[in-house]
Amino acid sequence: GLPVGIVGLPNVGKSTTFNALTKAQNAESANYPFCTIEPNKAVVPVPDPRLEELAKIVNPERIQHSTIDFVDIAGLVKGASKGEGLGNQFLSNIRETEMILHMVRCFEDGNITHVEGSIDPLRDIEIIESELIFADIQQLEKKIDRLARQAKTGDKKVRAQLEIAQELMKHLEEIKPVSTFEKRDDENFIQLDKELRFLSNKPIIYGANVDEEGLLEDNEYVQAVKKHAEEVGADVIKLCAKIEEELVQLEEDEAKEFLEELGIEESGLDKIIRTAFERLGLISYFTAGVKEVRAWTIHRGWKAPKAASVIHNDFEKGFIRAEVIAYEDFIEYGGEQGAKEAGKMRLEGKDYVVQDGDVMHFRFNV
Ligand code: GDP
Repeated sequence: GLPVGIVGLPNVGKSTTFNALTKAQNAESANYPFCTIEPNKAVVPVPDPRLEELAKIVNPERIQHSTIDFVDIAGLVKGASKGEGLGNQFLSNIRETEMILHMVRCFEDGNITHVEGSIDPLRDIEIIESELIFADIQQLEKKIDRLARQAKTGDKKVRAQLEIAQELMKHLEEIKPVSTFEKRDDENFIQLDKELRFLSNKPIIYGANVDEEGLLEDNEYVQAVKKHAEEVGADVIKLCAKIEEELVQLEEDEAKEFLEELGIEESGLDKIIRTAFERLGLISYFTAGVKEVRAWTIHRGWKAPKAASVIHNDFEKGFIRAEVIAYEDFIEYGGEQGAKEAGKMRLEGKDYVVQDGDVMHFRFNV
């Protein structure tokens, strides 16, 4: 899948958050017998109350959620891009991710030291993000050298690439992330990004880790992070990692009660998972059979045959048509039969763009 990398300075709550995610994975792992458990990766179910609603109608043996992968990238510290603290290894791990969950410490606790000696989330963000920019500069320097050599033979395309790479370099040298570079729509830039997978171009969710008090009311640290995030177009989700670790171990109604006591509607971890899913451009369609009610993950915009291929490769090749009932219709008319009788089941061909929440049934040749 498309992994989200968890980064942040030491002692900000990364491991606690990752542990909570791992526990969320294990709570459902019986449903995923084929996925191997890796120590630094959590395959986490995406919360989706629609699955429970579908199950009420269909009464399946089991429910399967869409999942999203989180990878723990501990150890990113100041100087990582210079190779300090196994830095380069961590940076190349980040390169493999599609999105960054940047944990920042927004709680005070005299017993838990902060590597920089004080609580200051904006400074922390700057430290981490500068390392990402430095790493991008190193990559880009090498690329510019190569392009400069090739450009001597006079290829127009190479020269255009070199030009944009040099412009980007100027931008990075001002310690600005690739994500704010003006020419990000330029095809030469897109090609460059595809090849180098710039670290500072990845979408970011800030996980503002607070204590219990901070959950109810934004403290000054959270406010600062929110202001910064708005300026750079990132998401912020506030959570108390310690509480999340407890929450994932509770039964659903117990967890609900706990949340009510805390005075919040949704767990921060759930919000992070949902936000990451959406920001990656992912949606779910459903299959609703008596064996299982299941969500399948696709990219927004995928057509029916491609969407079918996530169930089985053969479904794409042999695709004939899809029977589609919108989620709302499926619920309103009490299931497939009712929806059919109400004329709410559509037959769709190979050009149909699958919508979030579609309840699908594929017809195909083997
Ligand atoms: P990491 O180094 O970023 O992985 O940080 P950890 O998750 O190991 O957390 C460092 C310390 O902070 C641990 O002692 C945690 O128990 C504590 N901690 C983590 N989250 C919270 C929180 O939300 N509130 C408080 N008070 N302590 C926390």
